[in-house]
Amino acid sequence: MSSATSPARRPLRPSGKLLPEDARRHHRSLLLQLLFRYGPASRADLARSSGLTRVTVSDLVAELVAEELVTETTVTMSGRVGKPPVLVTLATGSRVIVAIDLSTDGLVQGAHVDLGGHVLTRHELPLDGRRGQGAVDVVHDLVRELVDSAPRPVLGIGVGSPGVVDAGGTVIDAPNFGWTDVALAADLRAAFDLPVFVANDANTAVLGEHTFGDTGDGGLMLLRVGTGVGAGLVLEGALLHGHRSAAGEIGHVVVDPDGQACACGRRGCLETVLSVPALRRQLEDGDVETVLADVGVRLGTVLAPVVGTLNLHELVLSGPADLLDGPLLAATDRTIRERTMPVSGDELVIRTSGLGEDGGDVVLVGAAVLVLAGQLGVS
Ligand SMILES: [Zn+2]
Repeated sequence: MSSATSPARRPLRPSGKLLPEDARRHHRSLLLQLLFRYGPASRADLARSSGLTRVTVSDLVAELVAEELVTETTVTMSGRVGKPPVLVTLATGSRVIVAIDLSTDGLVQGAHVDLGGHVLTRHELPLDGRRGQGAVDVVHDLVRELVDSAPRPVLGIGVGSPGVVDAGGTVIDAPNFGWTDVALAADLRAAFDLPVFVANDANTAVLGEHTFGDTGDGGLMLLRVGTGVGAGLVLEGALLHGHRSAAGEIGHVVVDPDGQACACGRRGCLETVLSVPALRRQLEDGDVETVLADVGVRLGTVLAPVVGTLNLHELVLSGPADLLDGPLLAATDRTIRERTMPVSGDELVIRTSGLGEDGGDVVLVGAAVLVLAGQLGVS
């Protein structure tokens, strides 16, 4: 797969001729995806589940073993006659992914993540107020540290960035960094000669939650509450991008036309009451329960039409648990149910993310999913 294309942007109406190498890559992804999702399997199981012939499966497994992406183990069962079965297992420790999270205020965070989504080693660098090219340089420095210290071959580099990011990994607009049309993926690819995938932080987070969180198969919306507020959506098994790559920008929906001035230039956006700095400010001169419940009602009011329209299965809030996981979550939940039909609310799950402390690893793990999807075709 071309590393210039967003891994999650798969066409619903593919066109053009199927080449033998396309078929082989597709078959390879199919096997890797089965091992990734369902764990070790025999060649016969893989042939059955994939619909590929035993010969094709054996051929591909041999290739994957040679690349050390899978291992084979013989299972000895006492009392059984005949040849013991050989199980094929995805070697999650055979590569590392360099994952970068740019969504934390004042900090660039990174980690080595294995192919099973486990965060191995963390590194971080302070931004010290740098913006523009200065902020790009900090990202390069952190990637350099992580690439140089990688304990295994690097499969690729994944980055979750705030702002609007196009399918080629160019950050079109990220006001917090002073970035306009910054070709972050192309820059990193040129500097490190590795596959690079860059996506919006909330989109990255929802991919992390979808792949490694405790999620079902229904529509999933993840609302990321940090310096700003943004959302990512996985619908019918695919990430929603939107017409201008700006799907999920719910943080700038106006909830109070007479409210606080917003970074976007308008007044009273959802972000001006729900972002972490906004919540902390409101808590300074108000009763904790009341303030958080009031914000929860506002959030529920904004989200009810979304839930009603999309018939979501899960709504996940990601951010500081002391702010989100209590009166705020409860009021959001209650308000959405009050404002939608029973069929919308019956099986709706509203919860916080469990990936890392306070769901804090969700962008890092999601950045790893960008690479897993782009390079191995698994998610
Ligand atoms: Zn705004």
